[in-house]
Amino acid sequence: MGATLPANRRKRLTNRPIAGPNPNSTKWAWVLSSCSAPDGTSSHLLFSALMSEQVVQQRSRGFICTNAHPRGCAAVVERQIQAVTGSPLRGASGPQRALVIGASTGYGLSSRIALAWGFGAKTLGIYFEREPTGKKTASAGFYNTAAMQTRAAQDGLWAYGINGDAFSDEVKEQAAERIRSELGQVDIVIYSLASPKRTDPRTGITHSSVLKTLGEPYVNRSIDLSTGQVGEAKIEPASEEEAAATVKVMGGEDWTWWIDKLLAEDLLAPGARTLAYSYLGPELTWPMYRAGTIGAAKKDLEATAKKLSARLAAAVGGDAWVAVNKAVVTQASSAIPVLPLYISLLFKVMKAKGLHEDCIEQMRRLCLDHLADGKVPRTDAERLIRLDDLELREDVQQEVAALWRQVTTENLREISDFNGFQLAFNQLFGFDVEGVDYSQLVETEIAIVNPA
Ligand code: NAD
Repeated sequence: MGATLPANRRKRLTNRPIAGPNPNSTKWAWVLSSCSAPDGTSSHLLFSALMSEQVVQQRSRGFICTNAHPRGCAAVVERQIQAVTGSPLRGASGPQRALVIGASTGYGLSSRIALAWGFGAKTLGIYFEREPTGKKTASAGFYNTAAMQTRAAQDGLWAYGINGDAFSDEVKEQAAERIRSELGQVDIVIYSLASPKRTDPRTGITHSSVLKTLGEPYVNRSIDLSTGQVGEAKIEPASEEEAAATVKVMGGEDWTWWIDKLLAEDLLAPGARTLAYSYLGPELTWPMYRAGTIGAAKKDLEATAKKLSARLAAAVGGDAWVAVNKAVVTQASSAIPVLPLYISLLFKVMKAKGLHEDCIEQMRRLCLDHLADGKVPRTDAERLIRLDDLELREDVQQEVAALWRQVTTENLREISDFNGFQLAFNQLFGFDVEGVDYSQLVETEIAIVNPA
């Protein structure tokens, strides 16, 4: 069958860039060796490989996109790299060996890119992403990481990825081994997980986080992302168990366990720092965010930073902080009721004022102003690094609040940047990206290349 494949299809397979597919992957090696064999068996294998080239059109369900486009994801990653290499962060001196936990999308991916292409740091990334299987594409974070690590290799930057559950002991152990063998120690640990659940390896119990209030039900305006209708979202109060489970998932315990493990194994360099991310937001979101279950988890994270700061100072002369980042479109934030409408209005106001920032601009600022050599992070009275300063500026919030009162389904696209929200959402999955031809076949079964 494969022996009779048209020459143009054979050429396409043999010309496929080796930088994308993982030469260490059994599957890919098997396909490559079969390409060169002229017998019937290899023809069959050749055909199997071609099955993973497909035209990928976006498939969505509510606030979830169920597939991803590898070329689109690579283009978005490339844009982030350019945003760093074309900025003053490029070539600044800073941490040289970084562990980024939650490194494949959103703030974690941008942290990794800023550290790598800004400071030239070696980065070990941890993420939990779906691999491609046959016709099913990988998740966006998988393609982002494949693209990030391929580009890093091209630029002579060491970037290694571990795909697995960061909450587990196994992944902590794998990371420790990799640091020991390749990096010796790390100078910085970024903790940027956003997860709906966590299995505690010490008890085997799986805890699920909820987005609920603590106390009264809360009703506010929200967009139905599948219909674009402005309506109301009602958020119910959490039970005590639900509130505790949310802290267990999104609070500071797992961050502490990571730092404990690295300290115990002498894998943190002198002066090592660690950061986790939080969100405060404007008052209108407080009942369901800051004063709700997720806010309680964030307060736990912030309290953890203080404890880790003392521990790191004593052990290695290091420190720990929480950075409060601005609201951006990520897979995590899109799933939170009320927030997409707030973000759409916020983007409108911040873009008009020339203040708009996305994940990469925030992380660029974090690196340059707070993490570069010689910089001591500036914090507020609560010891928080405030990257949300522009979002919470009084004039910005006053304008958002005025628009919040006026917004309806009819004027949504006029008075808010819902178009920008949707574009950013689609681009999270590699769709709607300028320069990508979505009518073309694309190889979906690529692998993440790790340094040998
Ligand atoms: P995101 O959904 O884009 O990224 C989450 C990351 O965590 C991904 O890399 C994913 O693979 C990884 N992950 C999830 N579960 C995992 C597991 N079990 N093991 C290993 N990796 C796992 O999220 P985000 O919005 O970038 O959020 C990151 C942090 O930033 C969170 O603490 C969030 O609260 C904070 N933050 C987000 C916003 C926002 O507007 N999105 C604003 C301020 C702060």
